[in-house]
Amino acid sequence: MCALAWLAFTCGKARPGEGSSATDEAPDEPARDARRPGDPPTARRDTLDALRQAARAPRHPSDGGGRAWLEADSATPAQAGRSGRWAITYEVGPAGIAVGGFVRFTAPVFWNWSPAQASESAAPGYTVAECTAEGVTLEAREGPQGLEFVVRGRGLVAGERVELVYGAGDARALADRYAERESRFWIAVDGDGDGQARMLADPPGVDVLPGPAAVLSAVLPSTAEPDETVLLRLAFLDGTGSRGAAFVGDVTLLARPEGLELPEKVTFTSEDAGVKSVELRVKEKGVVRILARAEDAGGEFLAQANPLLVEPNAAPVRWGDFHGHSGLSDGTGTPEDFLAYARDVAGLDAVCLTDHDHWGMQALDEYPELWARIREASERFNQPGRFVTLLGYEWTNWVHGHRHVLYFGDEGGEVLSSIDERYETPAQLWDALRGQDALTFAHHSAGGPIATDWTFAPDPELEPVTEIVSVHGASEAPDAPQRIYSPLSGNFVRDALDKGYALGFIGSGDSHDGHPGLVHLVSPQMGGLAAVLTKDMTREGVRIALKERCCYATNGPRILLRAALDGQRMGSTLAPKAGKSLCYVRAIACAPIATIELVRAGKIVETLPGEEHWDVEAAFQPEDLVAGEYLYVRVVQQDGGAAWSSPFFVR
Ligand SMILES: [Zn+2]
Ligand SMILES: [Zn+2]
Repeated sequence: MCALAWLAFTCGKARPGEGSSATDEAPDEPARDARRPGDPPTARRDTLDALRQAARAPRHPSDGGGRAWLEADSATPAQAGRSGRWAITYEVGPAGIAVGGFVRFTAPVFWNWSPAQASESAAPGYTVAECTAEGVTLEAREGPQGLEFVVRGRGLVAGERVELVYGAGDARALADRYAERESRFWIAVDGDGDGQARMLADPPGVDVLPGPAAVLSAVLPSTAEPDETVLLRLAFLDGTGSRGAAFVGDVTLLARPEGLELPEKVTFTSEDAGVKSVELRVKEKGVVRILARAEDAGGEFLAQANPLLVEPNAAPVRWGDFHGHSGLSDGTGTPEDFLAYARDVAGLDAVCLTDHDHWGMQALDEYPELWARIREASERFNQPGRFVTLLGYEWTNWVHGHRHVLYFGDEGGEVLSSIDERYETPAQLWDALRGQDALTFAHHSAGGPIATDWTFAPDPELEPVTEIVSVHGASEAPDAPQRIYSPLSGNFVRDALDKGYALGFIGSGDSHDGHPGLVHLVSPQMGGLAAVLTKDMTREGVRIALKERCCYATNGPRILLRAALDGQRMGSTLAPKAGKSLCYVRAIACAPIATIELVRAGKIVETLPGEEHWDVEAAFQPEDLVAGEYLYVRVVQQDGGAAWSSPFFVR
C-alpha cells in the first residue's frame, strides 16, 4: 500500500528537499519492461505493475494491528522548515507481532521532512526505537519503504509497547517546508513476519505552523458593474505562500482611478491571522488597479492586485482551479484547509481538490473514508452563486497519461481507479462515466511526469477542455513561455488540435503546497488558472461553461482576456468563410504586455507588439477561414505571465 509513495520518494524527479517546486513525481529512467508494443513512449507499466502488486499483496490479520500516539511533549506544532524531535509510542494489537515481524516508521514522505534513518546519529532524521518488554530486542533495518524495527528474541504480545524517537540525534529532524495540519507519522506493522506490512488506520500526526510573514497578496474579482460592492482579499503569507503568518498593523491602499471609495487603511489584528477581506464599492466605468502596502520590523510588503474591469453589463470572468492535491495523496494539508485557502486567500470562484486515485501513503481507492472526507468537504464548502466546489480526483494512469475526473452532480461519483483493469484506458474510463454528470481533462500532456496518449481521441461529450499549463509548465506548444520539462515532440496540445480535436483551454495550479489558485505567487509563471466565462456560479453553470469551451487559460496571473472572431466568442465553432475576418482582442494585464499573437492551424501567423502597455486592444484580420482549422490568441507579458484564449474552430 505505501510502496507507491515510496516509488515517488526514492525515484521522484522532485524528491523532497531537492525538488524545485510542488509537482507530481515521476519515476526517472524507464525500466526495460516499462512498455508493451503499442504503448506510448512515456508509458510506465513497471510503475503500474508495482502499484498493483503492492495493492494486492496478501495481508495477515495481525498486519497493521495496534495503535500509536505522540507523547504529550511531542504533540506541539512543528515550525515549517525547522527542526524538531518527536516521541511516538506504539502499542501492540490483539494479534501480537511474531519474531521476524516488524514495526515500520516512515516520516511524512512529501515536502522536505527528513527521511527516518538509523545509521548516522549525527545526521537529521536519526530514529531510535526501544522496547522495555523482557526478552525482546529490536533490530533496526532501513527498508525500501521506511525504517523497520524487526522483533527478535521472542514475539511481542498485546499491550506491549515500542517507544520511537524521530530526530533523536543532535541534528534532530527537519519538518515540512509548507505549513499544514495533520502531517502524518506513518506506522506500519508486519505481524506475522512474512515481510508484508499494513499501515495503522489512524497514524499520529502534527500540525506544521507557517514561517514569518514574507509576502502580501491582494486579489480582486476581474469584472464588476458600476455601483457594485466587491471584495478585496488581502493575505500575509510566509515565504512559501502558506497562510497564517502573523502580521499586526496597517495596510494602506492606493487606487487608480482616483476617486474610488477606499478605506484609508485596513488594520490587521492578531485575530485576523493575516487574512482579511475588504468591501469596496466600485463606482465608475473603467479599469481599477489597487496597490497595497504595509511594513513591519521585517521590512516592507507591497502587493499589486489584479486588474478589475468595471463596466455596465460586463461579461463576467470568474476564476477556477480544478486540479490540486492535499495531504490525502501527495500534497499538503487537509481537504478543508485546501478549500478554505481557495476561497479566503486566493479568492477563487470555483475549485476542485483532485487527489490521486492511487498515489500517496494511503490511496483513495483503498481507503473509502478518505474519499468520503473529500466528498463531505466539497459539499460543505459549496455555496451556489458565490463559491463552487466540485468533487473530483486525478486518474493517475502511468501508461496513457493523467486525467482529471470532475463530478458536477450533487450526488457526486466514485473513484474509478486507474490501476483497476476495468478503467485502465481513457476509453474505458469514459465508458464508465457516460451518463454521469462528469467531465474529464488531460494534463501535463506534452511531457512532464508522463505525457498524454493522444491516440485516444478526447471523448466529445466528456472531454471538452484540456489543461495547457500548470506548475509543470506549458504543454501548449514548443514555443510556449515556460514550456514543460521532458517534452515529447509531436505531443503538444497544438499537435492534438492539428489532429482535429476540438478542445478548449484551461490552466490549473496542480498545487501540492496547499495553495490552490496561488501556486505562482512564490514561483512566478509556474502555475495555472482557468478563467470561466459565466454569470451562473453554480456547479451546473461551471459545467456548461467548460462544456461549451467558454473559458481560457493563464499561467497564474489574472489577465483579463476578451477575444471574438467575427462576433463569435472564444471556444465557438464558425462556418468557413472566404475573404477577411475580424479577430478582436482586448487584454488587460497584470504587467506590461510583450506580444499578442494569433495562432492558426499549427503556427503563429501574426505577432503584434504590446509596446509595454498594460491594457491593449488589437485586431487581426485572418483571411479565408477553411473547414477543419482553428485559431486562438496568446498574450504574453514581459515577465512571462501569459493567457491563452480557447480556440475558435472552423467546421
Ligand atoms: Zn498528474
Ligand atoms: Zn496532479
